[in-house]
Amino acid sequence: MDISTICVHGCKKKYDTTGAVSVPIFASSTFAHPGVGQSTGFDYSRSQNPTKEHLEHTITALEGGDDTIAFSSGMAAVSALMELFSPGDHIVASYDLYGGTFRLFSHISEKNGIKFSYAASTEEISAKISPNTKAVFIETPTNPMMNVVDIAAAAKVTQSKNLLLIVDNTFLTPIFQRPLSLGANIILHSGTKYLGGHNDALSGMLTVKDDTAPCDYVLSERLRFIAKTTGACLSPFDSFLITRGLKTLAIRMERHNKNALEIADWLTKQKKITKVYYIGLRNHPDYAVSCRQASGFGGMISFSVDNEQTAVSILENVKLIKYAESLGGTESLITYPLLQTHADLPQHEREARGINACLLRLSVGLEDSADITADLKQAIERVK
Ligand SMILES: *Cc1c(COP(=O)(O)O)cnc(C)c1O
Repeated sequence: MDISTICVHGCKKKYDTTGAVSVPIFASSTFAHPGVGQSTGFDYSRSQNPTKEHLEHTITALEGGDDTIAFSSGMAAVSALMELFSPGDHIVASYDLYGGTFRLFSHISEKNGIKFSYAASTEEISAKISPNTKAVFIETPTNPMMNVVDIAAAAKVTQSKNLLLIVDNTFLTPIFQRPLSLGANIILHSGTKYLGGHNDALSGMLTVKDDTAPCDYVLSERLRFIAKTTGACLSPFDSFLITRGLKTLAIRMERHNKNALEIADWLTKQKKITKVYYIGLRNHPDYAVSCRQASGFGGMISFSVDNEQTAVSILENVKLIKYAESLGGTESLITYPLLQTHADLPQHEREARGINACLLRLSVGLEDSADITADLKQAIERVK
């Protein structure tokens, strides 16, 4: 079945007998037992709720995994994931990561005794693996610099060393990139972004493939245990919103991709724009890797302008595009990574990654691309 059909129909299991075409919102915290020692399959909504289960089954089908657990945010999913590890364990992570993930690793997980090394390439990942390494955590393309990690090459390394490969697939979604089929063991999503897609709900997902995971426990069971024990489950209402968003994921991604290609091309021709970071541009250094491992380039573009004044002026003068954090929704958003998503990175870490006062990140929405470029054009023209 094509992935766009899975988006629309999702999970096959029916949870009521009315013939309702969309999944009901089961607003119940608890479920009555038919008898002693018996269960309907649902006991208490922190463990599982039908609306949440419906969403989880749909994501599992989209990613080609064995199970998915939905959390109240992407960061709740990463926090739960970190509970797989113990003091002394070591993780090698992408050098250029979502700022919130880097903050969690450096301020919370390190305090709890987990050690991290950061690597920019597969060769560096290999070089940083030590006897205590348990996992490799990559984000591709990276946020905000749009570097691409070769997932199959990373999987070759992790498989040879019996390590977990965790991939943050938030930017490309299963529509364009399916890391489990390339050898990853766990997929992370901020479902707040493209999966939900409407800038109206937070959520996070962990999707796993059990049979290939190098663990002495069943990965999905262990993560479900962590999820119900730590408690950051996705609510029935938000599960419904993400399920509704997923119905249009395939056509939204197609349009985000088309718009972003047009806008990236337009940006490269503007005098005040000095560099455009978009994985769909033929001169992107990892263009060949992207073409090999993904079927589209997504809707995220970063670009550098000639000076800080231009950056500030664009942020203050865009009208249609909103100056706001987040990404992946219907509305185009522009972000200043320096002051927003990556503000908590130490300055030297930011600068080493190229995150400076001239860098802007654009989440291309579903508006007409000519309206988006017209808005950028009028904002650029107002620079004094
Ligand atoms: C937003 C984001 C997260 C965190 O997700 P929240 O839903 O905001 O908690 C993690 N990874 C990436 C790539 C993101 O863009």
